[in-house]
Amino acid sequence: MEFIQFHPTSVYTESEKTYLISEAVRGEGAHLVNIKGERFMIAIHENGELAPRDIVARSIYKEIQKQKEPFVYLTLNHLDPEKIKKRFPNIFAKLSTLGINMCERIPVAPAAHYMVGGIKTDTDGESSLKNLFVCGELASTGVMGANRLASNSLLECLVFGYRAIERSRNAIPSTIKSGEENFTPLFRIDYSRKGEFAELSKRVARILTTNAGIVRNEELLHNGLFRLEAERIMYVREDNEIFDLVGENLIIVAELIIKSAMMRRESRGGHYREDFPKENETFIHHIIQQRGREIFTTPVDTGNHNKL
Ligand SMILES: Cc1cc2nc3c(=O)[nH]c(=O)nc-3n(C[C@H](O)[C@H](O)[C@H](O)COP(=O)(O)OP(=O)(O)OC[C@H]3O[C@@H](n4cnc5c(N)ncnc54)[C@H](O)[C@@H]3O)c2cc1C
Repeated sequence: MEFIQFHPTSVYTESEKTYLISEAVRGEGAHLVNIKGERFMIAIHENGELAPRDIVARSIYKEIQKQKEPFVYLTLNHLDPEKIKKRFPNIFAKLSTLGINMCERIPVAPAAHYMVGGIKTDTDGESSLKNLFVCGELASTGVMGANRLASNSLLECLVFGYRAIERSRNAIPSTIKSGEENFTPLFRIDYSRKGEFAELSKRVARILTTNAGIVRNEELLHNGLFRLEAERIMYVREDNEIFDLVGENLIIVAELIIKSAMMRRESRGGHYREDFPKENETFIHHIIQQRGREIFTTPVDTGNHNKL
C-alpha cells in the first residue's frame, strides 16, 4: 500500500480538480522551469525532463518547496505552435477553456495518480476471502513491482478481470442467482450525512498529501496516523449506516498506506523517504496487513525459477 505513483504534471488550478498533462508533451520537447525561469531538471538527471516519472515528480515537489508559488511551469514557447496544436489538440482545447495558452507555458504540480498496492490476490484474482475476486487498481496481483510502468494498469484490468471471471464461473455455486429476490439490504442510508462524508474525504486526502505524499519521513507519517485517529473520533459513530461505514473505510485505507510506509524504512519505486533515501535490500519483500494480525512480510517472487 505504500507504493503510490504521482503524476509529475497536473495542471495547477485553484480548485481541487486536476487535469493531467500527458508525458508525451515533455517527450515532444517541453521544458520544466521554476518560477525564476531556470530549467532545474538538467542538474538533477542526465535525461532532464525525460527522467523516470517518480524522479521528475519528486524534483518538481522539491522545487516548489523552495519557492513561494505552489507550481512550476511546463514551457513550450521554444517549440513550433502549429505542431503543438496538431499533436495535442485535446490538451490544447482543454487548456484554452482554463484560459491557458498551451503553446506558451502551463502551471503544473504533481498529483496522486495510481495506487500500486491493494487487496492481495492470487493469479486468478481471488483474495484471501473465499469467493471474493478483485481486479483493477484495487488489486495487488504482484505484477506492478514497486512502480507501475505507464499503461500497464489497463492491461492488468483486462488480464486479471478475464481470469477472475473464468475461475469464479467454477468456484461460485450455480444455485446462487442474481436478481432482487436474493438481495436484503444490510445497511441503512442516512442521506443527511452525505455532506459530512464529502468533507471527510477532502480532509483525509489532505492528510495523505501532507503526511504520506511524494516525500515522506518518520515524523510526518506518525503525525498522519494521529490526524487520522482524530478524524475517526470525530466522524465514526459505529452505526450500521452506509456513510458511517464508507467513511471509516476511507480512514482505514489511509492508515494502511501510512503503516506500510512507516515499516518500509528505505526508498523504492513509488515510496520515497527522505530519512532513508536509498534502496535497502533487506526490504525486498511485500508488506501485508490483515485484520486481526500484526503487520507482516512475504517474499517477493522475482520470477527467477529454474525451469525443468
Ligand atoms: C488521468 C489518468 C490517466 C491514465 N492513463 C492511463 C493509461 O494511459 N494507461 C493505463 O494503463 N492506465 C492509465 N491510468 C490508470 C488506469 O486508468 C486505472 O488504473 C484504471 O482505470 C483503473 O480501473 P478500475 O476499473 O480498477 O477502477 P476505476 O476506473 O476507478 O473504476 C472503479 C469504479 O467503481 C465505482 N465505485 C467506487 N465505489 C463504489 C461503490 N461503493 N459502489 C459501486 N461502485 C463504486 C467508481 O465510480 C468507478 O466507476 C490513468 C489514470 C488516470 C487517473
